[in-house]
Amino acid sequence: MEDMLSTVIKCANFAAIKHKNQKRKDVEGTPYINHPIGVSYILTNEGGITDPLVIQAALLHDTVEDTDTTLQEIEDHFGEEVAGIVAEVTDDKSLAKAERKKLQIEHAKNSSHRAKLVKLADKLYNLRDLNRSTPVGWTEERVQQYFVWAKKVVRNLAGTNEPMEKALDIIFQERNISE
Ligand code: NDP
Ligand code: ZN
Repeated sequence: MEDMLSTVIKCANFAAIKHKNQKRKDVEGTPYINHPIGVSYILTNEGGITDPLVIQAALLHDTVEDTDTTLQEIEDHFGEEVAGIVAEVTDDKSLAKAERKKLQIEHAKNSSHRAKLVKLADKLYNLRDLNRSTPVGWTEERVQQYFVWAKKVVRNLAGTNEPMEKALDIIFQERNISE
């Protein structure tokens, strides 16, 4: 079997190639790959996560949703377990946005522990990103609505990882989001 370090680097390389033409929504147009790498770093550095399958899935978590990557491709390269976690955190883009947002709240509750960890780190990264810089074309109201919705997702991930949940709590408190 391939050693874990090589497999994790293989995931980072795969994600970098897949996201190579994408940028974040901030005014600076930050390269998209900063996000999956940052999500993985939150998991290891703040969440204390050492499970390689979680880190692999975090690196790959937006490849299926946001690029031409298929779940089959993920399974072929990284195995069934990683593909399963990626599937759990992938929105169905054929659905209307409002429906997708609603389903994320519902799915959070019934996700596997590994998928919940990736979701928590993903939300933490995106909310920090919004606090750092408002995306192009977003009003303050839209930013606030995103925090309100994210809180509903995070509520359904409760009891998964204390440090990440604490960090999220503080962010919601700062925005005065009670429920
Ligand atoms: P989007 O889903 O369109 O955008 C947010 C997503 O973009 C994040 O979840 C993240 O996903 C990705 N992303 C890329 N760059 C950034 C960045 N710099 N900072 C944060 N996230 C980034 O947002 P919503 O549709 O959820 O919009 C928020 C709210 O605004 C909604 O609740 C909706 O009600 C409302 N809305 C208002 C509109 C308007 O006023 N015109 C239009 C649409 C919605 P990933 O992790 O996959 O990268
Ligand atoms: Zn993401």
